[in-house]
Amino acid sequence: MSIKYAKRMEYIKGSAIRELLKLTEQPEIISFAGGLPAPELFPIEEMKEVCLKVLDTDGKAALQYSTTEGYLPLRKIISERMRYSGIEIPADDILITSGSQQGLEFSGKVFLDEGDTVICESPSYLGALNAFKSYLPRFVEVEMDNEGMKMDELEKALEANPNAKFIYTIPDFQNPSGITMSFERRKRLVELSVKYNVPIVEDNPYGDLRFEGERIPAVKHFDTAGMVIYLGTFSKTFSPGLRVGWVAASPEIVRKYVLVKQGADLQCNSMAQRETAAFVQMFDIDKHINKIIEVYGRRRTLMIETMEKEFPKNVKFTYPSGGLFTWVELPEGVDAAAVLKKALEEKVAFVPGGSFYPNGGNENHFRLNYSCMPEDKIVEGITRLGKVLKTL
Ligand code: PMP
Repeated sequence: MSIKYAKRMEYIKGSAIRELLKLTEQPEIISFAGGLPAPELFPIEEMKEVCLKVLDTDGKAALQYSTTEGYLPLRKIISERMRYSGIEIPADDILITSGSQQGLEFSGKVFLDEGDTVICESPSYLGALNAFKSYLPRFVEVEMDNEGMKMDELEKALEANPNAKFIYTIPDFQNPSGITMSFERRKRLVELSVKYNVPIVEDNPYGDLRFEGERIPAVKHFDTAGMVIYLGTFSKTFSPGLRVGWVAASPEIVRKYVLVKQGADLQCNSMAQRETAAFVQMFDIDKHINKIIEVYGRRRTLMIETMEKEFPKNVKFTYPSGGLFTWVELPEGVDAAAVLKKALEEKVAFVPGGSFYPNGGNENHFRLNYSCMPEDKIVEGITRLGKVLKTL
């Protein structure tokens, strides 16, 4: 029997690396491979109160179907909180999604036909690339430096691909590189988007997790023409398990996402939306975020200091001022996937970088996560990794 699947399934594949990373679930392995928030910081006691309150005061609605757009008080909270990023947007122009991942998937569905072009950072978030891939696009990668996407390279890509459907960017503490786009480049990015009439999908799960320095306004802050689709989430500042994210864009574009969501799942979880709103109303989420920043910031500093001490000098890495990841560059020609095999023998793991480049190449990179590992394990794991790197 041979079952005929959709063509897209040829592009949606498990990878050999995923198989290797399954090993990282063994308890004796120190894994810097994941991208999980630290579970010890989840506000569990507070959430007991929140759940009771929601059920006591609004139980029937919390267990009922609701509108596709989402729970209005939550959309109002999001609208107010987006001011921190320099964005003025009414609650009406916000759609609640199941994490920002659903916003990414919907971006593919709303914009992409087979063969269409997506312009993205090089490297970029694997989960987004995979979500877009099921719509069979081509990817044009734009090189980055420590200020984010290079704007002259982006302009060349736009000139060469005038029908590109959107530019995908993660401007703050990018996954995987940890790089943050500078103020000037954000401004320029929006100018280029308008000039070439190509919208921007701004994916910003990490902007609130800044350890030092001034917050830079979101790309959407510079958007006066309705070209930027902003994807946000409570996953990294509150709870990824509740799956509450959002899309904020012009009324015309949000409407398209609403239509697509109706077909996908009708609406987000009514209970989770109310719990998220009630948490923000009953407790101080900014205080909670500051606690996360303090812990991750310490872990970042310790990881980088240990890398400086233990890694050979020909290995380079980024110094992120927020978020969850640092990005390591091995000498040209070294394959990080082969290094992972050796590292696993020493019971330490990371994600090799090749799959973050949609068109391949760049196998000499890997990503390290510091949010989800206690400090003693960071020192121990990075020291072990340093030993492996010294044998190369
Ligand atoms: N975008 C980026 C850049 C991410 O790193 C992640 C999570 N790893 C997501 C989107 C998806 O997050 P969520 O669906 O939990 O909001």
